[in-house]
Amino acid sequence: MTQKVVVIYSGGMDSFTVLNKALQEGHDVYALSFDYGQRHVKELKVAAQVCEKLNVPHKIVDISAINQLIGGSSLTDDIDVPEGHYEEESMKSTIVPNRNMILLSLAVGYAVSLKASQVYYGAHSGDHAIYPDCRPEFVKKMDDLCRIANYDAVEIFSPYLNNTKIDILTDGIKMGLDYSQTWTCYNGREKACGKCGACQERLEAFKLNDVTDPLEYEL
Ligand SMILES: [Zn+2]
Repeated sequence: MTQKVVVIYSGGMDSFTVLNKALQEGHDVYALSFDYGQRHVKELKVAAQVCEKLNVPHKIVDISAINQLIGGSSLTDDIDVPEGHYEEESMKSTIVPNRNMILLSLAVGYAVSLKASQVYYGAHSGDHAIYPDCRPEFVKKMDDLCRIANYDAVEIFSPYLNNTKIDILTDGIKMGLDYSQTWTCYNGREKACGKCGACQERLEAFKLNDVTDPLEYEL
């Protein structure tokens, strides 16, 4: 059955896959991106281009004001983005405190206003080690909460919650998606750096799928 759904869409490969999945399931999709003062807006530009192409209504909401309250992340502050494997301790500097709870709350508010029944959210198991707010126990409780927080229940739907990034890419390749329309790198330069945790994780996913990443890298 066609439903109205909100998709939290960052412009990265996971949420790009989730966005396309919701569309291929035949839903009436509203994409939502957040500008929380990321060090670069390249992801958001890519997100806007994709939505325009797919003819999906898209909002980019500036929530950078929250940085007055929460900070200390290398993704928003002037701290070096760590290089190395994404499951390493150093990656904890990429945590934006309470980020996903804030983003999901806003997305659910948008869903209620639109009379949408679900918020699609691209959490996956590769993030469980470092980001507590990507873990199943968090998503489950947020889902429970969002079903009772308003007169209209909203479901938090994370289709890849127990899958890896590698599985997500496998699914996206099956769907025939073009990943040159995604941006993953934590640095916002012309080409992806190939060194940051996000690039490494992405490259690993392509390698394990036996597919060449269509993005250009500095390496
Ligand atoms: Zn990178």
